[in-house]
Amino acid sequence: MQNNREDLDKKVRPIQFYDFKGQDDIVSNLKIFVQAAKLRHEPLDHLLLHGPPGLGKTTLANIVANEMQTNIKITSGPVLEKAGDLAGILTNLEEGDILFIDEIHRLNTVVEEYLYSAMEDFFIDLVIDSGPSARTVQIQLNPFTLIGATTQSGKLTSPLRARFGINLHFDYYNTDILQSIIKRSAKILDIPIDQESALHIAKRGRGTPRICNSLLRRVRDFAQVIGDGNINKELTISSLDALKIDKYGLDDMDRKILKIILDKFNGGPVGIKTIATALHADPHTVEEVYEPFLVKEGFINRTTRGRILTKLTYDYFGVNKINEQLDIF
Ligand code: ADP
Repeated sequence: MQNNREDLDKKVRPIQFYDFKGQDDIVSNLKIFVQAAKLRHEPLDHLLLHGPPGLGKTTLANIVANEMQTNIKITSGPVLEKAGDLAGILTNLEEGDILFIDEIHRLNTVVEEYLYSAMEDFFIDLVIDSGPSARTVQIQLNPFTLIGATTQSGKLTSPLRARFGINLHFDYYNTDILQSIIKRSAKILDIPIDQESALHIAKRGRGTPRICNSLLRRVRDFAQVIGDGNINKELTISSLDALKIDKYGLDDMDRKILKIILDKFNGGPVGIKTIATALHADPHTVEEVYEPFLVKEGFINRTTRGRILTKLTYDYFGVNKINEQLDIF
């Protein structure tokens, strides 16, 4: 089942700049940097991509590798537990290769410090043997490009951030672009869909291509089982309702987060870890996947004292705000 989903993801993943829709500023700048690096026969400068999940960071890293005609090695911060894990990867990179580290803000400190000399001067110091015979040898690396992706750029240390020559921020997509992404995916997957249905999916897709693609596949399930295989407006709306995705794009988990702040914490302020604990959820997921969208859509305000619900949320649940002390509207 997982493989099936991965296969579909692969099929619709853009492989060249031309297929990558939206994020115009990022793409136009990157095209120049890629072309300049190619002209000089040099690896591209290290590149930091930041923004919420599902907006195309991994996709763009793969496109850069494709356009630079180089290999890409993909790993992630939490997977690189020991300095040796990183050293093994770095020493195997060929000249001009790309190393993509997803969730780079979750690298542990020791591993991160290894990256500094690797990024700056393309060498690493390896400690060989242990005890009295321990010694350090310097290993030269082939010049490479590090592409780091993060959903939490604020959590990156300054020394690491400073070593990236190019720093690009991904924004949520607008509905028009999402609609064209959905139509492109539908065409590739051979799913018959009209303009209006694509627009409805786009509107509930939380500004995120990954979510739009996954909603498209779910709506197709409904079309095939309870419809005639075609996706039309009525079927789209009833499928999205059945999936409990409302007109704001909020799903069950979003509503649970808002409701718990409302009911248990009197509308806030409350810390993200406390919210996650109350929901028995992973704090990273709440903070990196759910919260940014709720903040962007104006359901939650982030303050120095914690998260606070906004008037929109009270209106959404049809309740009045009780604690006037916390008035922030
Ligand atoms: P991230 O690394 O930011 O979490 P991904 O690169 O994995 O996001 O993107 C998730 C999916 O969304 C990809 O499989 C791709 O099909 C689709 N996608 C992302 N950005 C775009 C885009 N700009 N145009 C078309 N499809 C996109």
